[in-house]
Amino acid sequence: MSKLRLFLGLIILIFAAGCQRVDQQDNEYETGGATDTGKLKVVATTTIVGDVVSEIGGDLIDLTVLLPVGTDPHGFDPTPQDVAKLADADVIFANGLGLEEFLDSMIESAGVENKVVYVSDGIDLLRSEEHHDEDEGEEHHHEHNHGGIDPHTWFSPLNVMVWIHNIAYALSDVDPDSAQAYAHNEEVYEAELVELDTWIREQVAQIPEDNRNLVTDHSLFTYFADEYSFTQVGALIPGYSTVSEPTAQELAQIEDAIEDLNVKAVFVGYTVNPVLGERVADDTGTELVFVYTGALSETDGAAATYLHYMRYNTTAFVNALR
Ligand SMILES: [Zn+2]
Repeated sequence: MSKLRLFLGLIILIFAAGCQRVDQQDNEYETGGATDTGKLKVVATTTIVGDVVSEIGGDLIDLTVLLPVGTDPHGFDPTPQDVAKLADADVIFANGLGLEEFLDSMIESAGVENKVVYVSDGIDLLRSEEHHDEDEGEEHHHEHNHGGIDPHTWFSPLNVMVWIHNIAYALSDVDPDSAQAYAHNEEVYEAELVELDTWIREQVAQIPEDNRNLVTDHSLFTYFADEYSFTQVGALIPGYSTVSEPTAQELAQIEDAIEDLNVKAVFVGYTVNPVLGERVADDTGTELVFVYTGALSETDGAAATYLHYMRYNTTAFVNALR
């Protein structure tokens, strides 16, 4: 009898709460932790993840991007304030796959394991072809290496289609009332990604196949190379992270490869120290070209959004290699 009364009481409470929500839709949220405006508090790790999340969340979310513009994600050192931002969030979006080397300990400190969504989940993961088996054995214990998987998944717009699906799904899960809006934003942005993919194919068609060689500061164009028929000849810093240094022997190997394959340019990220790239370009007589890698530009820069960033980098490849 008392159980039945409790049950009925609950039904009435739920009903009352439901009625109240209709009246105060803008400032009432059942998920908890929402801002005064009723918006979800969302944190994204890198500027690139942040830009794509903002395309799906739009005005419905209150977005904080953890890494400042121009910050290399591999070497980022979070502050206690950054940990507090994670603790305060309803949802946290990260690339994952070891890209954000700072993230695991941060998630643990903030106690937010169940709020983290890895946008790259579900992508067909690739290894760079120049990444040899012997290196993997040796580097097995390094956390950032993750068995030789390239974490830079966004260099194929087709992978970003997986991202936006994960993002829309996760936002709808915590904010089901806005699920339709998130699905609509996903559809609109997917059309832009399709257009970007078509444009990249048209652009790279200007580069003769023999010239489609990429030498970069670290290995990060595996997905681009796979999608648009390039070869990642090698990287100045071996592996998928910038937080490392090549040996003299490794540098000599990459310089030999540049000369053997008649590679026309070395591409170095704006967020990476250019000294190594300058030296290799000088030694081999190749052009040193700057591209955007781990971060977007300032809002008034040439790569303020993911779409602009991909167009900027593709144009840099075409101009240097055609
Ligand atoms: Zn990187």
